[in-house]
Amino acid sequence: MKEQTNSSSMIDSVSSNNQSVSDNLESDTSSVGSDVSSDNTSSTGSTVDPATCSHSYESSITKHPRVLDEGEKTFTCKLCKHTYTEKLPKTKTLKVLALGNSFSVDAMEYLWDIANNAGVENIVLGNINISGCSLDMHWDNIVNDTTVSYKKNTTGTWKGKRSTVAEVLADEEWDIISLQQNSANSAFPDTYGNLNNLVNYISVCEPNARIVWHLTWSYQHTSKKEFFKEFDRDPIKMYNAIVSTYKEKVEPCELITSVTPSGTAVQNLRSSYIGDTITRDGFHMSYSYGRYIIGLTWFAALTGGNVDDVTWLPSDYPEMADDLPVIRQSVKDAIKTPLAITQQAKEK
Ligand SMILES: [Zn+2]
Repeated sequence: MKEQTNSSSMIDSVSSNNQSVSDNLESDTSSVGSDVSSDNTSSTGSTVDPATCSHSYESSITKHPRVLDEGEKTFTCKLCKHTYTEKLPKTKTLKVLALGNSFSVDAMEYLWDIANNAGVENIVLGNINISGCSLDMHWDNIVNDTTVSYKKNTTGTWKGKRSTVAEVLADEEWDIISLQQNSANSAFPDTYGNLNNLVNYISVCEPNARIVWHLTWSYQHTSKKEFFKEFDRDPIKMYNAIVSTYKEKVEPCELITSVTPSGTAVQNLRSSYIGDTITRDGFHMSYSYGRYIIGLTWFAALTGGNVDDVTWLPSDYPEMADDLPVIRQSVKDAIKTPLAITQQAKEK
């Protein structure tokens, strides 16, 4: 894993003529092109007095801006080491494509409304949502140029069509592309053999996109799924196996820049007074608490936004308003500690 980067180079060296430097800086452009004279600097530090220095700055992005999170650029004088910072504006644009399945449907169903409510201005969601689709199946579809189910949401309403994966990737200039394993395989490392093929293909098609990993959730204790027996029908055992598989197979992949910890947010909420009750069939998220908490997790992880700023609730489930504190806390703790469960309040 590496820190997130985007298309711009981490270090964009500003030449000493400072044309891009804003007015709040007194800069002496007479230093343009001049060599740094050796008696002004040393290799370990500066002896130049900043008060009299004819500054010659170079800059680096010390924090990349995100959708709802300002970035920062730091300027450092090559001569006297004086530094100052400038804020980089929030991008206010969220363009995310999932190569997913029904679990990414759960994740994205409320995402448009949540992001819109929190002030994201340009929202484009795409989802290749073949039922039960594994990493291997996505890769086969790419190799065979198969048409797949593609849903898109730019206005708050999902619309579907059929396209090849290559056409979907070309359909938008995606900022973020999310990958996941299907739930039946999520906890089994030997099913991740095509992950690198997928990541490499995407990074060639969409070199400016950040590739992120969707850490999916474990089944509810009531699930009748056959393979769930391998985890003694214990959601925490399955969750732990999903996390260890992530660490073994996904974390080493340098082109995957971050994790969206849905499985951890779910497990956090299950530890609260809400309990292990938030699926609709033992594994898909419920239309109320389940989809809402996953939508909030995607929002927080992908935009850098604050879940406290989201007041929107799905209109069919106003009763969730009473439980917003524990839902939000479960998400915040998952963002802060994405690969471990954080115990939540046992009483309302
Ligand atoms: Zn200086």
